[in-house]
Amino acid sequence: MADLANLESAFERITVQDENENQLSTTTVYHKSKGSLSTAVSVTGLSASTTAANRMKLPSQQKLAVMNATKAAGNVIISQSRSTEHTGHGHRRTLTESVLYSQPSSPKQWHLGMFEIGKPLGKGKFGHVYLAKERVTGFVCALKVLHKDELVSGKVEKLVRREIEIQSHLAHPNILRLFGHFHDQKRVFLILEFAGKGELYKHLRREQRFPEWKAAQYIAQMVAALKYLHKKHVMHRDIKPENILVGIHGEIKISDFGWSVHAPNNRRKTMCGTLDYLPPEMLNGAGHYSEKIDLWSLGVLTYEFLCGEAPFEDAQAMTQRRIARGDYKVPHYVSSEAKDLIQRLLVLDPEKRISLVEIEQHPWILKHCKAGTGGMERVSGSKVRSSADRES
Ligand code: AMP
Repeated sequence: MADLANLESAFERITVQDENENQLSTTTVYHKSKGSLSTAVSVTGLSASTTAANRMKLPSQQKLAVMNATKAAGNVIISQSRSTEHTGHGHRRTLTESVLYSQPSSPKQWHLGMFEIGKPLGKGKFGHVYLAKERVTGFVCALKVLHKDELVSGKVEKLVRREIEIQSHLAHPNILRLFGHFHDQKRVFLILEFAGKGELYKHLRREQRFPEWKAAQYIAQMVAALKYLHKKHVMHRDIKPENILVGIHGEIKISDFGWSVHAPNNRRKTMCGTLDYLPPEMLNGAGHYSEKIDLWSLGVLTYEFLCGEAPFEDAQAMTQRRIARGDYKVPHYVSSEAKDLIQRLLVLDPEKRISLVEIEQHPWILKHCKAGTGGMERVSGSKVRSSADRES
């Protein structure tokens, strides 16, 4: 019980403030009432992606998303006390300003009764995710339900706290939004953006490997998201297809910030028995690494998108050895431009890796993505489409 009390007080201390307020159309501020645990709430109703859903013919589940565009409650920002964000590698950032835009008519606290729960969307290690709709506004979201006792026994309370703290500060079309959280005695609920087309990993397994134009678009979107993250001194540290969801228009959404900034990733190691995405500078648990680790993972991701498997896939000890040596081969069917980008990303010396800005200008990206669209449009002008589009 003591642990649960700690967990509760930990959640109570979380401070949230949307720093991307220029993306918000209307804003209402709700104060946290004393003793409430429903502190971190930031709901954006009218994002570009949801509005555009109006134009599409959608299956019933996705029709709900359309309502986000029309019925969403404005944006809710809760922001209060000072907190310091440790962004790793010496970066510290103080989240101070309590920006109050307008006064609410009444305070709002989230609780389960405010949501209509729909079908299960998936199951993670610590809980289930459900499609949900906020009753009053019709706002459609994904509700992640985490069981406190499992978080405690899995020793991941800090990770979840970190995930909430970081993700609720982020607002980018290629990063899964965390709108807020609340809890009851046994569970913690995360109110997440609904990613209509599910896991990228499943798309990749189904298609075996992506055609170059699609891989290039996904990578350009990853670059846009990483530029945004790195500007905020946030390293994701766990980039891999399993942690990427696909939005209603086939656009990618980076999710799972549990390991970002906080700790070296060893999840694939513990869960799947591979170290495929681990950058060489993290191999020996080295303490010194920078956001350039995400560039290495981007190289692994590019390779996996194009080849259907990670470049260092092998028995665990061999994988480590091969990563340390940068020992991989690009298959013959990969274009010379794509191969060049992979080779510029999978560079052992982090400082010598190609930068995100340079990737945007790389011939492979320019060949497939319309400049300035962050990978959202092909050179031909067609919008991003995923395998699910072709099936529907
Ligand atoms: P997680 O616990 O985050 O690993 O989520 C478990 C599964 O639920 C994922 O693999 C997805 O299939 C699904 N899922 C999680 N979050 C969302 C979301 N925001 N939108 C749609 N599906 C999701």
